[in-house]
Amino acid sequence: MAGSSLQKVTILGSTGSIGVSTLDVLSRHSDRFDVLALTANSNVALMAEQCRRFKPRFAVLRDTKAAEVLNSELAETGTTVLFGDDGLMQIAGLPEADVVMAAIVGGAGLQPTLRAVEAGKRVLLANKESLVMSGQLFMKAVVDCGAELLPIDSEHNAIYQCLANGATGHAAGVSRILLTASGGPLLRKPLDELVDVTPDEACAHPNWEMGRKISVDSASMMNKGLELIEACHLFAVPPKKVDIVVHPQSIIHSMVEYLDGSIISQMGNPDMRTPIAHALAWPGRINSGVERLDVTKMADLQFEVADQERFPCLRLCREVAERGQCYAIALNAANEVAVERFLNELIAFPDIPLVIEVVLEQTSETEVHTIDAVLELDAIARQQAYQMHGKK
Ligand code: NAD
Ligand code: MG
Repeated sequence: MAGSSLQKVTILGSTGSIGVSTLDVLSRHSDRFDVLALTANSNVALMAEQCRRFKPRFAVLRDTKAAEVLNSELAETGTTVLFGDDGLMQIAGLPEADVVMAAIVGGAGLQPTLRAVEAGKRVLLANKESLVMSGQLFMKAVVDCGAELLPIDSEHNAIYQCLANGATGHAAGVSRILLTASGGPLLRKPLDELVDVTPDEACAHPNWEMGRKISVDSASMMNKGLELIEACHLFAVPPKKVDIVVHPQSIIHSMVEYLDGSIISQMGNPDMRTPIAHALAWPGRINSGVERLDVTKMADLQFEVADQERFPCLRLCREVAERGQCYAIALNAANEVAVERFLNELIAFPDIPLVIEVVLEQTSETEVHTIDAVLELDAIARQQAYQMHGKK
């Protein structure tokens, strides 16, 4: 294939779990994809290694000091180093890019992800928080700017594959979406022991290796709650049409039930390279490097109802999904603060939903028409969450 026909890929959050998996898939297809730009927060060592291997035209480290070190490390290479939020925003909207992987964690990903959407790119959405925060504004920008949005979250990627036309938006004949959840590392832990859960325990996911924030979200099932909200926006379905089913083996990644009684599911080994490869190649298929699933060895697939007493975050997310956008912003912001404080051992694990609940109580109904309004409400909710003290 001629050099000019290579698809140019930017990865926002290249040093994270999704970023590393994306580079792994890309490394298998250098005849098809070219790495244009990589961005991260502050991990100089990994970013330098990635730049030497993939030779991007641009690398961004948000942290200025880290970017200076990177700049001197890459002085003899063809990679231009940028820094700060300005550098990140510039790279997120580069006209030359064909594909942007949005894999920054948390609300920090909102503006760069939206910039890629506004530039009309094929956007691979891992950063679910940006969609939870901005909801209809985000989906409208996708349509208005002619972007192509492909879900990377394994459940949403599965749903996308199970929808007959593969399209986001109107899902004709769909009666229900079954969002599967592993239940995380605390699924069977006695309720009275949750107060003693340590950050490492909460991050020890049985099936997936992920960044620490999403790992804690999986332990509290906030991740599934955020995914419920994400699914409603991506597939234009009301929350009551989305059921959450605990499936501890993480083999079925989600299911779509149709009016005629058919249920279509997508299966595979729990490895994010499958949804990443799917979205990179859509509507074609490419090898992802994922080990094949041996169906003869999976006789024991279990499904159970999600327990809202054990996982209060599920109830909070369902309530928020039925209410205005301002509540989703508050919930996401409060959760990010609570998770950070839990990881820093300042609050206990069961305090996470308590912090969120109090912040939601302090949130009053406000119309959200602009991204500036999203950012303003996000900042207020974060401040409220920081003011709360847990049981520690
Ligand atoms: P991670 O913590 O491993 O990586 C996060 C990346 O974002 C890193 O490259 C980091 O440098 C960068 N980053 C962090 N803060 C930043 C900031 N303020 N500004 C700019 N860059 C910043 O996270 P992850 O597990 O790869 O998850 C990334 C996103 O993908 C999250 O939104 C998560 O919910 C979603 N997701 C992850 C998985 C998974 O398996 N890891 C699965 C589904 C969805
Ligand atoms: Mg997921």
